[in-house]
Amino acid sequence: MKQNKTMIINDLLNPSGFSVIAGPCTIESRESLAEIAAALKEIGINILRGGVYKMRTSVHSFRGLGDIALAYLKEVGERYGMVTVSECIDVTKVELMSDYIDVFLIGMRNMQNYPLLEAIGKTNKPVILKRGMSSTYKEWLLAAEYLAETGNHNIVLCERGIRTFEPHTRNTLDLSSVPVLKSKSKYPVIVDPSHSTGHRDYVKSMSWAATAAGANGLLIETHLNPETSLCDAEQAVTIDELKAIVKPIDELRRALSL
Ligand code: PEP
Ligand code: MN
Repeated sequence: MKQNKTMIINDLLNPSGFSVIAGPCTIESRESLAEIAAALKEIGINILRGGVYKMRTSVHSFRGLGDIALAYLKEVGERYGMVTVSECIDVTKVELMSDYIDVFLIGMRNMQNYPLLEAIGKTNKPVILKRGMSSTYKEWLLAAEYLAETGNHNIVLCERGIRTFEPHTRNTLDLSSVPVLKSKSKYPVIVDPSHSTGHRDYVKSMSWAATAAGANGLLIETHLNPETSLCDAEQAVTIDELKAIVKPIDELRRALSL
C-alpha cells in the first residue's frame, strides 16, 4: 500500500510500530541525495535522513553543506514522497529547519541542551531524541520531558550506544535500553546500529538484535559508495546491504509476536 507522509509519520510515532530511517550521514550534494533517495524508495524505505550541520569531533572534518542542504532535502523528500529527518544543533536554526524538514533529530551531544529541546518542542514537529553517550536512562527520560513540557509529545527515543572501555566498536550498543525505556515511557524506541558499532560489518546483526529486543525502528547510515562517504565512511552500508538487513524484519517480528 502506498503511504502518504501523515501515515509514515504516524507509524514512526506508534509505540507498537516499526520504521526504517536511512540515508547518508551528511548530505554531500543535491544529485547524490536524489540518487540515494530513489534507491531507498525502490526498496520500500519511506524515511530519509541526511545531515546538514554536523557536530564533528575535529574542526578540520567535513561539517556539512549547511543551509543549502535543507533545500536539497526538502526538494528530494517531496519528489519521492519521503519523510525527511535532519539534526538540529543550534537554537538559531530551529525556525529555519522547521520550514524544510518533517522530523527533527537531536544528536547525542545535544541530549542535555535544554534550550534546544525547548525550542524544538515548541515547533510541535516529531523529534527523535538520541541518547547522550554517557547518559543514564533516567537522564534521557528527563531530557524527553523538556520536550513534553512544551506540549510536544511527538517523541521517539533513539539508542545509539554509550561510551565504555571497549575500543573495538565505536560505542557499546546497550540493547537493554529498548525493553527498559519501553516499559518506563510511552514513546517508541528506535536503535541506531551505525553510530553504536561504527563498522558496517556489524550493522546487520545489531539491526536484527535490536528488532528482536522490541525496537520500534532502525536508523541506518546508508551511502551509494560507502568508501567515498565524506563522513562516517566505515559504518555506512550500501543499498544492497540495507536491503538484506530489512528483508527478514517483518517475518522476525511476526515470529516473536512483536
Ligand atoms: C547522526 O545520527 O547524524 C549523529 C551525529 O549521531 P550521534 O549524535 O548519535 O553521534
Ligand atoms: Mn554519522
